[in-house]
Amino acid sequence: MTATPVLDAAASLLIGDDRIVDASGGTYDHIFPGTGQVNVTIPMAGAQEVDAAVRSAAAAQREWQAMPVDRRRDLMFALARAVEGDLETLGALSVHDYGVPIAMSPGMGQMLARFLDYYAGWVDKATGQTAPVGGSHDVNMIEREPYGVIGLIVPWNGPLVGIAMAAAPALAAGNAVVIKPPELAPLATVRFGELCRRVGLPPGLVNVIPGGPAAGDALVRHPGVGKLHFTGSGATARKIAVAAAEGLKPLSFELGGKSANVVFADADLDRAVSIAAFMGPLTQSGQSCACGSRILVERSVYPEFQERLVEAVRQAPIGDPFDPATLMGPVVSQAAVDRIMGAIGDAVRHGTGKLITGGDRLGGELAAGYYIEPTIFADVPNDSPLARIETFGPVVSVMPFDTEDEAVAIANDTDLGLVAYAHTSSFERAHRVARRLEAGSVWINTISDIQPSGPYGGYKQSGYGRLGGIEGLHEFSQVKNTRITMGA
Ligand code: NAD
Repeated sequence: MTATPVLDAAASLLIGDDRIVDASGGTYDHIFPGTGQVNVTIPMAGAQEVDAAVRSAAAAQREWQAMPVDRRRDLMFALARAVEGDLETLGALSVHDYGVPIAMSPGMGQMLARFLDYYAGWVDKATGQTAPVGGSHDVNMIEREPYGVIGLIVPWNGPLVGIAMAAAPALAAGNAVVIKPPELAPLATVRFGELCRRVGLPPGLVNVIPGGPAAGDALVRHPGVGKLHFTGSGATARKIAVAAAEGLKPLSFELGGKSANVVFADADLDRAVSIAAFMGPLTQSGQSCACGSRILVERSVYPEFQERLVEAVRQAPIGDPFDPATLMGPVVSQAAVDRIMGAIGDAVRHGTGKLITGGDRLGGELAAGYYIEPTIFADVPNDSPLARIETFGPVVSVMPFDTEDEAVAIANDTDLGLVAYAHTSSFERAHRVARRLEAGSVWINTISDIQPSGPYGGYKQSGYGRLGGIEGLHEFSQVKNTRITMGA
């Protein structure tokens, strides 16, 4: 990115018509993970800005709901086109945000545009129902209505994807949104807020308030927020659930995963290896909720698979995320480096499996940034911390199995259940295994495939609620039953 003004403009809060550069939550020096240097200083929302944003959203929501339905639909389509027209800037800001490689970052904006298109299409098609009751003078209507203001706490690892999955259905359902990106990655989200203004959404319909835990907590507790959606870790979700309990606030959670990727001997191994590498340590440096971080391999192909996986990750271009050739960039922060290197160190010290590649921080030209080698441990016991705790970094475990039953048992032996992968050329096995895997999404012979039309969300402690599809629209609307009796 050459234009520093674009970065500077993204260092702000957007509330109603106002662009705020001086906020009550103080400031945060945003660091570019590729170099460890300060990128830009951003203002942080405090309770005051949270309150202003919720009030402004409430006013805009009334305007939005009163607007003719075709106008609302057309504005959402216009927003999708504005996002498409801004992919380069949104992509560059995503790289600044959290070091995602520029080769991948336009995909985030494209996904946002696809979700906006999909949900714009629902605006004039989401019909209600009537149900039989009483006699010919009675009407019994079942309709869905918006909550009003939705609080959205989006993650740093793909804020635009978080917005796509949550803000698009929330708006289509007739709500206004207050989006709180974290201080680690606020920039592309603020740019999205600007696009909302440019296409003519009512001011305040989409407010963006970068901030930390205190701002998040204020948003959770604000009585003007009708529902809160959080994407992040289970640990923070527990705190949010406690805080929300006070006002009995409805919640939906998209949380972490420790997902199994099961490779059967009858699979196309070329494809299985490249998916295991990409959806394991490489994509977003392993910082994706959908990582297949436990790779279960049928014993007859286990040695060959390990060799090929090691070769695949060693060949991956790692480096400056602004270099178009880069496939894997840095992790998000020094704190993430410390956590991930700590997990690797513990595994090595305790002899958890066998380290077959990686394990170090990268030096040389990359020493100042937050780069960690793609790291693979083999023969990892499924009851070890390495196999049970989400590392959220470029670290995967490989483990053997002998039978389908054993593979399913290991895959399901976890507290989490976000996604699962399996590779097989058997149609029967694909169906059978998909039904047995305890996860909200199962992807067979394919990479992570979050589609607007497909509901996404976790089983077990990976969250509750679903984003995507009609389920996503329902997540942000509530049911009203109206009975009208006409006549005696
Ligand atoms: P995190 O739990 O640390 O969440 C950080 C966010 O929560 C920040 O915005 C922070 O300001 C806010 N926050 C912190 N304390 C709060 C409080 N008490 N009240 C309200 N808000 C508070 O998550 P993280 O480590 O930044 O993100 C990584 C996690 O997110 C991983 O577990 C990952 O798997 C998960 N994730 C899940 C999905 C999904 O769709 N399921 C997508 C992306 C990331």
